[in-house]
Amino acid sequence: MEHLYSEISRLLAPLHHCTALTGAGISAESGIATFRSKGGLWETYDPAIYASIEFFRKDPSKYWTIRGDFIRNYDSYQPNAAHYALAELGSMGILQAVITQNIDGLHTKAGSTNVIEIHGSLRHIYCLSCGAKFTAPHVPEGLPPYCACGGVLKPGTVLFGEQLSQDVLLQARQASATCNAMLVIGTSAVVQPAASLPYLAQQNGAKIIEINIEKAFPDADYFLQAKAGIALPRIVEKIKKIRQ
Ligand SMILES: [Zn+2]
Repeated sequence: MEHLYSEISRLLAPLHHCTALTGAGISAESGIATFRSKGGLWETYDPAIYASIEFFRKDPSKYWTIRGDFIRNYDSYQPNAAHYALAELGSMGILQAVITQNIDGLHTKAGSTNVIEIHGSLRHIYCLSCGAKFTAPHVPEGLPPYCACGGVLKPGTVLFGEQLSQDVLLQARQASATCNAMLVIGTSAVVQPAASLPYLAQQNGAKIIEINIEKAFPDADYFLQAKAGIALPRIVEKIKKIRQ
């Protein structure tokens, strides 16, 4: 394991165009239940129904009843050591982009600057009628909350049945196709479009470094079986020593 850390750190130290792809696993260490984890919200409520745009339009009050606390408590969730380590790799000039499947905004909170949120973010709430934007936790009260114009407010996350933003997808593909190493962290990357991004990176010559509790990406060049909150700070420390 130790020599694997050294090898990865030596690989990353001279690079300037790396991309990270993150999923629920990185936020689990911040106490945010993963989508399908035991005891999580979506064990009680089938996300295919309750997190769909169809359901939202039919009964926004129910959606806000089950999801509203999470949005209003937005400030209480804090980034963990893994988020901060990625932000540091950014300020060291190694990491150019973080592509995330997470909607919790923790990469931005930790200080990462180029965060590509492919499933949107709970940080922003939109009016379905006039498009007015609110930023969590400053969301009007109410189940559902309404905009001053009378329109219903919807979280800025991509619900089932909604299209992903084409702009955001394009950014994600660009950041994957142009990187020279991709860190795949806390994601099983089985859901499209995230699933195709490591392959896109690899086809364009990038090395794939997977950090996961369980191996999910069979073609990774390096696999660290570890918690991201432990592995990433170690890598950052090692890179600093190499760069001294
Ligand atoms: Zn409005």
